[in-house]
Amino acid sequence: MTTSPDDMAKALSDPAPIRFGGAGMIERTRPWRARGVARHVVLSSLAGLQRLGGALERGLARPRVHFISLHSVAPAEENKFRLLLTQLALTHRFVRYSEAVEHVRRGGIDRPLLTFSLDDGFRTCLASLRILEEFGACGCVFVCSAVVGEKRFGQVSAFCRDRLGVPPTQFVSWDDLGAILRAGHEVGSHTRTHANLAALGPVELANEIEGSRAELEARLGPIRHFAWPFGRFFHVRRQVVDAMAHAGYESSASTERGCHVVPASRPPTILCLRRDYIDVAWPLPHCLYFLARSAAQTSADAHLWPADLVPQPSDP
Ligand SMILES: [Zn+2]
Repeated sequence: MTTSPDDMAKALSDPAPIRFGGAGMIERTRPWRARGVARHVVLSSLAGLQRLGGALERGLARPRVHFISLHSVAPAEENKFRLLLTQLALTHRFVRYSEAVEHVRRGGIDRPLLTFSLDDGFRTCLASLRILEEFGACGCVFVCSAVVGEKRFGQVSAFCRDRLGVPPTQFVSWDDLGAILRAGHEVGSHTRTHANLAALGPVELANEIEGSRAELEARLGPIRHFAWPFGRFFHVRRQVVDAMAHAGYESSASTERGCHVVPASRPPTILCLRRDYIDVAWPLPHCLYFLARSAAQTSADAHLWPADLVPQPSDP
């Protein structure tokens, strides 16, 4: 079997392979170092070819709605984030997340439109949002309602280790979320406990999907958007998509790479959004490579769920 450089880059586009343990917990597999070097070399080559051939410029100039997914930006990476935003501002209009969803639903995709979302609700996202504000941009923070305001080290540590596979990291508080909304940003649901939804039964699904919306709305007002944990299509099932739509969300965001080039001709009850994950620690040409590649390769049906996740006309 042969593997093209583009396939290699696709395989290397996630920071680390993830596999699931019991009860929706994750385990990350390694080694990082050899993989990191190979990834860097392949992506640098592809980004160079893309730039030389004019595909970078053409991709970034394509009219579309592009959702970017971030976690948060480490203090040491803040200036790199500013550099990325400076570069993107040359060719894109930054819009609020709900405005971007409206464009996918109703149209008006006549220029490159970009919006930002930050998953998991780490408190470090506050600094990232302030940098977005410097560029007149807004973000949507997807939080797990069960850990908003959690201050107990043991609980934070266990959640970070078992659910997110990261070292202990402080989460946003309810006061933080209130301030985020007052600053013009948005808040969405990322479930209650960052569970692997594909592994859950109906009662647990309702608890994670409807329960998180109820908890967030009780403190913050209307919650319109959802992003499911881990973000790939194999992390949801048809019953999960049903539960998302039943809970009343307008959109549900994946981390399947891609963007939206035309409005949804027959919008499903709940829009399926593609997002490009960007780690600001990556070299700038690598970040731009992924965005331009998605812009060039995305298809008109990017807002539709895969056929096995929604009812089909031929279904009984
Ligand atoms: Zn997450």
